[in-house]
Amino acid sequence: MQTHDYQVLDSAHYLHPFTDFKSLGEEGSRIIERAEGVYIHDSDGNRILDGMAGLWCVNLGYGRDELVAAATEQMHQLPYYNSFFKTAHPPVVRLAEQLVKLAPAHINRVFFTGSGSEANDTVLRMVRRYWALKGRPDKQWVISRENAYHGSTVAGVSLGGMAPMHAQGGPLVPKIAHVRQPWWFMEGRPEGQDPDAFGRECAAALEAKILELGEENVAAFIAEPVQGAGGAIIPPESYWPAVKDVLEKYDILLVVDEVICGFGRLGEWFGSVHYDLEPDLMPIAKGLSSGYLPIGGVLVGDRVAETLIEEGGEFFHGFTYSGHPVCAAVALKNLELLQAEGVVARVRDDLGPYLASRWKALEVHPLVGEARSLGLIGALELVDPASGERFDASLGAGALCRDLCFAGGLVMRSVGDTMIISPPLVITRDEIDELIAKARRALDDTLARLTDPIILQQQESLS
Ligand code: PMP
Repeated sequence: MQTHDYQVLDSAHYLHPFTDFKSLGEEGSRIIERAEGVYIHDSDGNRILDGMAGLWCVNLGYGRDELVAAATEQMHQLPYYNSFFKTAHPPVVRLAEQLVKLAPAHINRVFFTGSGSEANDTVLRMVRRYWALKGRPDKQWVISRENAYHGSTVAGVSLGGMAPMHAQGGPLVPKIAHVRQPWWFMEGRPEGQDPDAFGRECAAALEAKILELGEENVAAFIAEPVQGAGGAIIPPESYWPAVKDVLEKYDILLVVDEVICGFGRLGEWFGSVHYDLEPDLMPIAKGLSSGYLPIGGVLVGDRVAETLIEEGGEFFHGFTYSGHPVCAAVALKNLELLQAEGVVARVRDDLGPYLASRWKALEVHPLVGEARSLGLIGALELVDPASGERFDASLGAGALCRDLCFAGGLVMRSVGDTMIISPPLVITRDEIDELIAKARRALDDTLARLTDPIILQQQESLS
């Protein structure tokens, strides 16, 4: 079959996630056929540097035979068994042990799921159950942040703060509130504040919301250490310490969504370690198996786990694929390889700082208002060189830049006019250089297209 044959079948039968079905049908999707290292290959023979590690998940890179072998072996041994009804199997038990060894010391239990969204559904049920068991059944509100992403199930969407998602398929889960996100470039900068004052202001917005709802009614605060899908938003240094203080003051559980930041993305095993947080619950997924098979879970701190165990009786919650043996075996091998190859420390000590210096240099480009990164996650804020402010959204600058990146052999994602990267953690310095060169070329091409008077005239006459 040729590319066109796949595209015809694709548009006839496949409803893609997060896609305008009609326009994709007209355009035709790009068919990815194989991958190795940090590169994907499409059906037209193009080799493309995957600056997004799939969807922030292929931490060990593509084509790792050890992971394939772990899956094959486990498939032969025990392809499926559940862990409902007083059963377990070796891979799930060993994976739980290994995760707990890597997690902060006060975390000693894991609940497994099939994805990050299911992990956050589990979080919602767990935190409300915890407070009910503590004799505080009114503590039901969960506070999240605007523009947060916590998944696409009903609970995931409700916990997330994405306005376009909230607008579809409601009503949402009740008793979830959203507060200001610590996005300095978008929300703080125009006021001319310093970033740390802005970070404290965002923490104060959390406190104000707690007081508005009544602290006796608030169960938990949920947040990503660095907001990923929202735009690789790295909070000001003042933000997390101030948030920690607020939560301690009012006895509110902290849920740190590690689905993107976990397993080395920020140069530590968990984003919580980087920011010195002590979460009560940590939802995980993605990098847990480097995306080779679907698996997620919730790392549960002692405070919540002991209450659920000692006082809770049966918790009526779980999934057919909770702790699936083949997914668990692959995750276990993935953790073993990350450790054996020193991947996480290399991100912290070498690749993260190297990317930071190269990435920051893109800030001199006329189209870039800010370049930021931490570990191996980064963002570029696109601005109109004439004003230093955002382009008119109708110009679609980010989407244009993303398409030009793809055409130039690099996957970089756009969130509005924020360009983001999150490459595999096994990327080399040379490959980082290649990523930067391709990003710069795409910025040049985008600038040329956005400022070409003939093209602009055509766009205006169309709109
Ligand atoms: N939480 C965060 C922070 C995420 O980035 C994502 C996925 N992008 C999820 C949860 C949901 O995970 P999944 O797509 O595996 O359900």
